Amino acid sequence: MPLSQVVGRLIGVREHVVDPGGGGASRVPRPTTAVVVGGGIAGMSAAVVLVERGVKVTVLEAAPTLGGRLGAWPEALADGTQRNEHGFHAVFRQYYNWRSILRRVDPGLGFLRPVPGYPILSEQWPTEEFGRLPPAPPTNLLALLLRSPSLRLADLRAMDRDAALPLLSYDPVRTYAEFDRMTADELLASLRLPDRARAMLFEVFSHSFFNHEAEMSAAEMIAQFHFYLLGNPEGLAFDCPDEDYATAIWEPLTRHVEKHGGRVVTGVAAARLDRQPGGWRVTAADGSSYPAGHVVLAVDPPALAALVAGSPGLTAAAPQLVARMPAFGPPGPPYAVARYWMDGDVHPDRAVFSGVSRQPTLDSVTLYHRLEHEPRRWAERTGGSVVELHAYACEPDVPADELAERMRVELTRLWPEAAGLRVRELRARVEARAPAFTPGGHAQRPGVRTDAAGLYLAGDGIRTDFPSALMERSAATGIIAANHILRSEGGAAEPVRSIRPRGLLAGRR
Ligand SMILES: Cc1cc2nc3c(=O)[nH]c(=O)nc-3n(C[C@H](O)[C@H](O)[C@H](O)COP(=O)(O)OP(=O)(O)OC[C@H]3O[C@@H](n4cnc5c(N)ncnc54)[C@H](O)[C@@H]3O)c2cc1C
Repeated sequence: MPLSQVVGRLIGVREHVVDPGGGGASRVPRPTTAVVVGGGIAGMSAAVVLVERGVKVTVLEAAPTLGGRLGAWPEALADGTQRNEHGFHAVFRQYYNWRSILRRVDPGLGFLRPVPGYPILSEQWPTEEFGRLPPAPPTNLLALLLRSPSLRLADLRAMDRDAALPLLSYDPVRTYAEFDRMTADELLASLRLPDRARAMLFEVFSHSFFNHEAEMSAAEMIAQFHFYLLGNPEGLAFDCPDEDYATAIWEPLTRHVEKHGGRVVTGVAAARLDRQPGGWRVTAADGSSYPAGHVVLAVDPPALAALVAGSPGLTAAAPQLVARMPAFGPPGPPYAVARYWMDGDVHPDRAVFSGVSRQPTLDSVTLYHRLEHEPRRWAERTGGSVVELHAYACEPDVPADELAERMRVELTRLWPEAAGLRVRELRARVEARAPAFTPGGHAQRPGVRTDAAGLYLAGDGIRTDFPSALMERSAATGIIAANHILRSEGGAAEPVRSIRPRGLLAGRR
């Protein structure tokens, strides 16, 4: 174990048990049915846990393929079919719950390959490397402060250290009580950091949460610093599948659910939810209907708001859920993903994944032909490259192709050789489905339990009282929803884990 992890363990930086699980029968003792609406990470995590305990589960997914924002689908290119994906995803090592679901299809997680390095590129300043820090706090933080060319001793002296304390003092209640009304932008400004440190160390990080700093809660940013950098023993290390997400994750998970008697139905959108004796009825847009004792709504925030609005019976059955939708439903700003199949390659020393600071649109670059098998084979055959560009919080109302072109041009400012690559194919999308973390929104954020018996929520916008985010929050809330159902039916619950629950200095303030 690296020394930093030994030091970290001594001060409680380790995996913590949120729910030990157990407490019931290995299979539910009476016939139990559940409909899970949404076949992304949250919905499939709930489904996996439920079917393993004998619950008869139907998953309804509106899209033709599973995965939601981690989806993958076949794409017809001029020279043959390739899988395209919703975008590069980093599976961080402290994603204990998501990894436990993935272990169902590959116990050794052999399909996840470490992605070395985490460079941040800038046109103005030299590259900053986040990936080669010692894994655990506080050593990683000290190393970052000592090594980073973006922060010198004089900068640390000039910095408002009292203003920085909240970053080290995350507390699941107090942080929100004190900082949820402040914006992330105001918190960063109060640190009095030099512009370079702010851009290279902080802004890239906060952009990754699909919200603009000026519109994002400071409490949420503190929570994410704790989750990704200051409270976990694994550090900013991550892995990625070496195959597309359909092959590596969704097809095997579907087989797992079906093997346990579950049903996965794609291309069917739930349109309405009604209470009925003994449970619920989900009616789909095509008129088909699905009765069940329990329902898990595991859809993205705008879809949840639309489903609630289309279900007039919820006004009486779940008035608090209905009341939360006006604040919860509107998503964060649009994000854009552009996958380019190019003639020629960038320099061999370019990293597989790089974050980007202070370009107007571009936030990250991924070299897929150095990451997944199929793009690798395509590149070997054609001498080309497969480059994916992301913008995590972009200007509204700009068409996807225009955002893609802006990102490509911005890339050439960072990697001049990219200007010489001819575009063979482009698939570009712009969508707005990520949760907004607006200041003051935490109190209204729905949790997994609703005010209606047998109706649960899951997803990356759903509140947890322990550190989690993005894919890991989706998996954790999906498991928690399943646990509520299992406990109510006498089945054993699934363990839920997280990182150190509070910041290193949380007790000192
Ligand atoms: C470009 C990009 C990059 C990302 N990178 C990372 C990363 O590196 N690391 C990380 O942790 N996270 C990352 N994320 C975030 C991550 O993708 C999400 O947190 C996670 O996938 C959300 O899963 P979910 O199940 O909560 O929601 P979703 O994936 O949105 O799933 C909801 C599902 O519900 C379905 N649905 C909606 N309405 C209905 C309906 N009426 N009936 C039936 N089905 C319906 C949708 O089609 C969808 O499949 C990234 C996201 C994007 C967009």
